Amino acid sequence: MFSDLSANAQALRERLLQFFEAHIYPNEGRYREETDALRRSGDPWQTVGLIESLKPLAREAGLWNLFLPHAHEGQGGISNLDYAPLCEVMGRVSWSAEVFNCSAPDTGNMETLARYGTPVQKQQWLEPLLQGEIRSAFLMTEPAVASSDATNIQCTIRRDGDHYVLDGRKWFSSGAGSPHCRLFIVMGKTDPDAPRHAQQSMVLVPRDTPGVTVLRHLSVFGYDDAPHGHMEVVLDNVRVPVDHMLLGEGRGFEIAQGRLGPGRIHHCMRSIGAAERALEAMCDRLLARVAFGRPLAEQSVWHERIAESRCLIDQARLLTLQAAWKMDTVGNKAARAEIAMIKVVAPNMACRVVDWAIQAHGAAGVSQDFWLAEAYALQRTVRIVDGPDEVHRNAIARIELARRAQAGMSGTASQD
Ligand SMILES: Cc1cc2nc3c(=O)[nH]c(=O)nc-3n(C[C@H](O)[C@H](O)[C@H](O)COP(=O)(O)OP(=O)(O)OC[C@H]3O[C@@H](n4cnc5c(N)ncnc54)[C@H](O)[C@@H]3O)c2cc1C
Repeated sequence: MFSDLSANAQALRERLLQFFEAHIYPNEGRYREETDALRRSGDPWQTVGLIESLKPLAREAGLWNLFLPHAHEGQGGISNLDYAPLCEVMGRVSWSAEVFNCSAPDTGNMETLARYGTPVQKQQWLEPLLQGEIRSAFLMTEPAVASSDATNIQCTIRRDGDHYVLDGRKWFSSGAGSPHCRLFIVMGKTDPDAPRHAQQSMVLVPRDTPGVTVLRHLSVFGYDDAPHGHMEVVLDNVRVPVDHMLLGEGRGFEIAQGRLGPGRIHHCMRSIGAAERALEAMCDRLLARVAFGRPLAEQSVWHERIAESRCLIDQARLLTLQAAWKMDTVGNKAARAEIAMIKVVAPNMACRVVDWAIQAHGAAGVSQDFWLAEAYALQRTVRIVDGPDEVHRNAIARIELARRAQAGMSGTASQD
């Protein structure tokens, strides 16, 4: 099993915690004021000054591109196990990850480019992403089809001489609302007659290519998530040179599999951070408020919920660390059961703990004065993004059944 954090990760975590105390927690109110002011101005799709002002400080503190699992030109090179507690800290404040250039979908897109991009593609797109100069979006989901089954994707990518021509409609393209978003990684079909998992490809589409229209944003429980946003995008006769193809025609499914593993574990680590902070808020509130003659914290129902929250959080953390350790030691593919398990466990746990924290705050818990309502909305979406709960449960069950089938149903104990 996994051991303690490495000395490097421990030092990074210390620095990150100090950065949070100095620059993130004290600015939570300012972040809300700035984004509210942009909304009132009628155009929330602008960069937030606070985030841009904190980025250089994060770089100076050596807290930049922490997520990179492989060293890239002197940056990154951290294991998933070591990244877990850092990502957990970032989960405590929903907007903080961008300050460290560690926010989705850019992290997944950078890793995709690092793993599958050509030297030219890396130079053009990966470098500015690593520098935090531009942002990116990942366009897979479509309104017209059940996109949890990626083989349903209808967007077409047709070869025409030296170009590919893309036609389709995507939605929930996170990050596409940002004015810094310059790159779309688009999944579509190059050959609908190929075997099921060889029909899809991924193409790099500069956002300003003619034929690309960002139509509107989709809200999440009423939140616009501006300026990041989850956008509906139309691709109408969009032409890109053939060298914008990633890895090769028919390799899109393979890239999606490689891309989603680390992305899923990052979501789960952040969910654990959000739940941990919600439990702290729950305890603080219950200790401070008196009802019916005694502090709420003395009511046994709250003892039950606090204890249950602690058990659920620690269980989820251990499972997540185990998944991270397996990804590091035997690879993402062999760790697929563990990745699927935490993708179910962590956001369900976080939804439950945040929901109890909201209850403990009474009406205040659902208001804009506390961060809990927004945290609930975010955690609820994690049960859908990167594959809904049911799809991951199916995967876990299939692996479990196959294991028994392999054991010949002879009663042989099978463990790994
Ligand atoms: C906030 C947010 C951000 C997102 N960001 C992005 C992004 O950046 N890029 C992108 O491409 N997509 C993004 N998505 C989309 C997300 O990945 C999809 O919503 C998800 O894959 C599910 O696809 P769908 O919405 O088409 O649901 P469907 O495929 O229509 O599924 C609907 C429901 O059916 C059930 N279901 C599905 N399969 C099974 C099964 N095998 N067994 C039993 N029940 C099943 C599940 O309950 C599921 O929720 C985002 C979504 C949200 C909410």
